[in-house]
Amino acid sequence: MFYPLNVSSKFAICGLPIRLDTYKDCSFNCEYCFANHRVIGAKVEDTVNIKWLRNKFEKIYDHKDINKKDFLENLLAERITLHGGGQSDCFQPREKQLQYTKKIVEICNDYDQHILFSTKSANIYEVPLTPELHSFQLSVSNMVGYLEDNVPHIQERIRFFDQLKNQGYKVGIRIQPFIPEITELEAIIDCFSDADHFTIESLKLVPQNVKHNHRLLEAIGLCSEDFKQMGLLNLYPEVRLWYYEPLIEYFEDHGISYSIADNDLHYLSNNNCCCGDKLIHRQTQFHNTRLLRQDRNYSLETVLDNLGELRHCNCRGLFTSNRTNNCTTVEEFYRERYPKKRSPFSPQFQYYEDMGQMRLDNY
Ligand code: SF4
Repeated sequence: MFYPLNVSSKFAICGLPIRLDTYKDCSFNCEYCFANHRVIGAKVEDTVNIKWLRNKFEKIYDHKDINKKDFLENLLAERITLHGGGQSDCFQPREKQLQYTKKIVEICNDYDQHILFSTKSANIYEVPLTPELHSFQLSVSNMVGYLEDNVPHIQERIRFFDQLKNQGYKVGIRIQPFIPEITELEAIIDCFSDADHFTIESLKLVPQNVKHNHRLLEAIGLCSEDFKQMGLLNLYPEVRLWYYEPLIEYFEDHGISYSIADNDLHYLSNNNCCCGDKLIHRQTQFHNTRLLRQDRNYSLETVLDNLGELRHCNCRGLFTSNRTNNCTTVEEFYRERYPKKRSPFSPQFQYYEDMGQMRLDNY
């Protein structure tokens, strides 16, 4: 069994670090997916622990019993919006039979818990949703279903988008993964022109997934030299920027709400949270997009101030063991990582256009 709530190890760079997952893998089975192709760690049995969630909420909200060292409990106590489906889709076809998302959402609703769902579905099945508590981020990579054979046809997803909007939900479009020459940026923006927010994030590869990467790169006409190791393998930032810049100009000219979710380009967003401020009820105060928008060289003290008492929480266990460096608390992690240019915990991780040689001539 697995727990439906986890704090993401990306808490420094994500305004919604509480991940809500109702399934461990995903029957949409997209070719580029992390959830289905991750080879790190043991395979976890695919049953969500529903009772654990009820007990956790009773402890925190009914009994006000919050362990001051527990990061998850403290973030829940602050009522940070949950991010549903960051790992695997909550509205994947298995939901029709298994109804895990329905059971989890019923408990969340009893506690007025806000949830932003990321999904590629065109159906909410029997999950009890309401615009007062829930919002959506529909993720779209291309308009023809390339590399996503089991995902509903784009026309169905457009209808779903319209239905949600008509029912009063806030709906953003997450253009992810952006794949050069495959993702039709203009067509996606045209099609969903009344979206409440646009987020864009490029394809990433898990370095350990060698066989899968090889197959995928062949399918999209890229090679490993097009990618740079930044924890995960990312397209070179110069190349991403070259594709994004006209888009950003368009968003700016038309007053459209947008974010760049690539970890090294967060500063480019015109929203505090990558998922879109309008789509969420409450985000953390200490994540980097928000701080970068205030000051591109924000200090460690600024982070610690914004963390407040959360700095004392235990965050051992959020990282794989070789990345903990004997740090135990959130503050220790920040102190260790903030000065490191190669860590997304540092403002120096951001890529600015004047920083590197243009690779575009060779692209
Ligand atoms: S819908 Fe999302 S979680 Fe599911 S296979 Fe596709 S990318 Fe993975």
